[in-house]
Amino acid sequence: MTHLLFGEAGRNCSACAVCARALGQHADPMSLDCGGICWGCQGEIGAAAGDPVDLAQVRVEAAQGLRPDWCEKVPKVSNARTRRSLLVDHAPSEA
Ligand SMILES: [Zn+2]
Repeated sequence: MTHLLFGEAGRNCSACAVCARALGQHADPMSLDCGGICWGCQGEIGAAAGDPVDLAQVRVEAAQGLRPDWCEKVPKVSNARTRRSLLVDHAPSEA
């Protein structure tokens, strides 16, 4: 996890420093406070950076429809065709 890298961004404790989403909203799982930015942003940053924990969680959330704008950056290797099946396969079990 890379949350600590973003600690200094959290001057405004009530809104994400990246997207201005209100943090800590129980009705919004993406609003979890990750040191001044929301999990919605943090998860995508972590996933893009290759953090396996963040990436796994983001995949689950994408499969659940929580991240409609997220698109996994598939490494340019031969298995790009598996992207769609990965999202489906990870949906129920790894939350
Ligand atoms: Zn955000």
